Amino acid sequence: MPDLLFATNNHHKLREIQEIMGHEFRIRSLKDINLDIDIPETQETIEGNAAQKAWFIHDRTGMDCFADDTGLEIDALDGRPGVYAARYAGEGCSFEDNINKVLQEMEGVEIRSACFRCVICLILGGKEYLFEGRIDGIITTERNGKEGFGYDPVFLPNGFKQTFADMPPYLKNGISHRGRAAEKMRKSIKKQTSEPADNSTGSLVP
Ligand code: IMP
Repeated sequence: MPDLLFATNNHHKLREIQEIMGHEFRIRSLKDINLDIDIPETQETIEGNAAQKAWFIHDRTGMDCFADDTGLEIDALDGRPGVYAARYAGEGCSFEDNINKVLQEMEGVEIRSACFRCVICLILGGKEYLFEGRIDGIITTERNGKEGFGYDPVFLPNGFKQTFADMPPYLKNGISHRGRAAEKMRKSIKKQTSEPADNSTGSLVP
């Protein structure tokens, strides 16, 4: 089974990616390789942040690795929190604080459409590849469910009756932004390892 290092300190994301790709790859964490380090995330786009995180860890380990970055884009809030989803309620805030801020800002709002967009940046053989996954839905008026993390309790994907936090993990992972981006990465790695290498780089798979 090939090894792949996931450049994240977020144990929720690690668990999801292990569930999504763990049957074909041995997903290693930074903890597994004894790397205790803060990863910078200072770019203004999710593509930029994903690439910054992946190269930061690749430069320090020399290993094939990948990183993801996610934005939550809410139409009624002109696309906010967007790339600033993690610290929307301020530096050092919790998932709860972020949800409270979004629910407050959306009080009385009828059109509640939103999407999660995730970009995974993979560094494989020293080359960069980007994969994107997106899921559309609405922001509910109250929290539902105990699974997942982040904004999951208030995100209801289109066509479903349960929020992400109300779904069993396999169901969220099968349709989520991260699950869709990871599936594209999985297919791309499979293809590359079964075909002679080409010179493509930086290809964003939408
Ligand atoms: P990051 O920049 O990719 O770490 O994600 C930014 C923030 O988006 C996280 O701190 C979470 O609040 C939120 N987020 C990312 N992925 C998910 C998800 O799958 N469900 C709910 N919230 C998420």
